[in-house]
Amino acid sequence: MERDYPSFVCARRAEILERVAEACSRSGRASDAVALVAVSKTVGIDAVAAAHEAGYTAFAENRPQELRRKQEASAAYPELAQVRWDMIGHLQTNKVGLVVGRVALIHSIDSLRLAKAVDARAAMLGCTAPVLMEVNVAGEESKTGFSPEEARSAIAEICSLGHLSLEGLMGMAPAYDPAAARRAFSDLRELRDSLARETGCQLGELSCGMSDDYTIAIEEGSTIIRLGRTVFDPAYALQ
Ligand SMILES: *Cc1c(COP(=O)(O)O)cnc(C)c1O
Repeated sequence: MERDYPSFVCARRAEILERVAEACSRSGRASDAVALVAVSKTVGIDAVAAAHEAGYTAFAENRPQELRRKQEASAAYPELAQVRWDMIGHLQTNKVGLVVGRVALIHSIDSLRLAKAVDARAAMLGCTAPVLMEVNVAGEESKTGFSPEEARSAIAEICSLGHLSLEGLMGMAPAYDPAAARRAFSDLRELRDSLARETGCQLGELSCGMSDDYTIAIEEGSTIIRLGRTVFDPAYALQ
């Protein structure tokens, strides 16, 4: 880690928070309406510690094994004992043991089979697993997630699982196209609203917005933004 890395992370954080506040105010939302999760998948635990020192309290990983590695490595940093970890990437059913009971939120429930596996693991541990359903709202072939139609037909059963707490939806937008990103985020919000109406499930959370598009996501109703490069990478140009 470069000697001045902690000061980069700290200065960058102030710039990000300013953009978050501006996007909240443009859309008439309270600035604390949006939670920021720092995606640490490309950095080491020393960078996580620097980010924590700068004020970040929630981190996310997209691979179960790397999540475990980071959590184990964080034992060397007592100040990281209380940080929040989320799982945001595709999860295979045979890996749920690495994740359930060890994270605050699984953003990436992308099949009914996975929902049932997470529920079964949580039942075994005697806990409830907070989760989001990941929806491939732009219909991109490269992305995982329920299609909107699949989400509509699976949600009642997922909601009824006794050891899951379904809190909302997660989605990703097409890259490099701000207009398409806005459409994807607003489609995700509308889907969330209609599913909540139809099922009576509380779906308060909308996890959307990454380094390239988080201000658009906030304007369209995101409640959790997941930021990787802009938090951790000095070479990433601020949007
Ligand atoms: C990597 C990743 C992010 C963060 O992406 P950046 O563009 O680096 O901000 C967010 N969500 C998921 C699911 C990811 O895999």
